[in-house]
Amino acid sequence: MQGSMKRFDDWYGPYPYAQITVVDPPHGAGEAGGMEYPTFITGDTFWWAPKGQKLFPEVVTEHEFGHQYWYAMVATNEFENAWLDEGINSYTEVKVCDSLYGKNTSMINWMGGQFGDTDFQRMEYVGVAETDPLARASFTDMSFSSYGGVTYGKTATMLITLENIVGEDTLRRALHAYFMKYRFTHPTQEDFLRTVNEVAGQDLGWYWQQAVYGTQVLDYKVLKAESVRVDWANKDAPEEQKGVTLYQTNVLLQRLGDFVFPVTAEVKFDNGETIREKWDGADRWKRFVYVKKTQVLSVEIDPDHQITMDRDYLNNSIATEAHRGAIMKISTHWTFVTQFFAQMLSWLT
Ligand SMILES: [Zn+2]
Repeated sequence: MQGSMKRFDDWYGPYPYAQITVVDPPHGAGEAGGMEYPTFITGDTFWWAPKGQKLFPEVVTEHEFGHQYWYAMVATNEFENAWLDEGINSYTEVKVCDSLYGKNTSMINWMGGQFGDTDFQRMEYVGVAETDPLARASFTDMSFSSYGGVTYGKTATMLITLENIVGEDTLRRALHAYFMKYRFTHPTQEDFLRTVNEVAGQDLGWYWQQAVYGTQVLDYKVLKAESVRVDWANKDAPEEQKGVTLYQTNVLLQRLGDFVFPVTAEVKFDNGETIREKWDGADRWKRFVYVKKTQVLSVEIDPDHQITMDRDYLNNSIATEAHRGAIMKISTHWTFVTQFFAQMLSWLT
């Protein structure tokens, strides 16, 4: 709790009241759960959640405290623009909890299992990626679950993905500017988007049109990664290259979704060489060709795992035969995680 207050004060602006009251409702209090009221929040502990291992009570407390900023002070319209409160609050929840508990351990760090809040928000978003735009009034969303996944998970995920364009620090400064300018007023989503544009010093309209006003799905795929021997054909090679084994490596990336976003691809070769390629992502596909003495080992889009709006992580990489094991491990992890979290998505309000 004190950690949350310190981060909010450092990053977004001062908490102006003399008091904050946190109540942990007694067991048997039914559906009390976590909830926000002005200068008053309820937490949510569980008998089966030992402190410091599964961090849900900590995350819920952070989340409800964050509402003191976005719901209580900035005070946007919950019905028309729910994402400005629950969504921005879910993003700041990720930032604060990652800072307090570690990026990959901010939700679960228990019995060898680790899971971060970024993954949790993305999991909520993935299931409803094609339903409602953020900019739609909450009462006209397709269903209650699409409202939840879009408002909380998609907003957090789209702001984390935006860090790739403007930088994490710039986005933090933009939230600070938005809070300081609009606290105790009732800003609209256009006020928020304009503030981010101004602080970032760029027109992000291309991103807002897709991520806020649209339902385009972001999905890039490694379609092909192969090396074929080409020195047979190298008859006109200079004398010193004669007899040298050469391979042509073809890498083909594909844009499966309608969401256009710049991506990086990492190409690894079996001599240890690694090349990072940039693609603006605009066309339906992009080819990279190399002629080398070495063969391709693997290709991975978004190697730093920052483009969280990419709906399907499993098609982001291809590995040649010897390296399939690593890819299988990743899919098994995600199957576990999907099943585990499918049960937990309605805990926060
Ligand atoms: Zn909330």
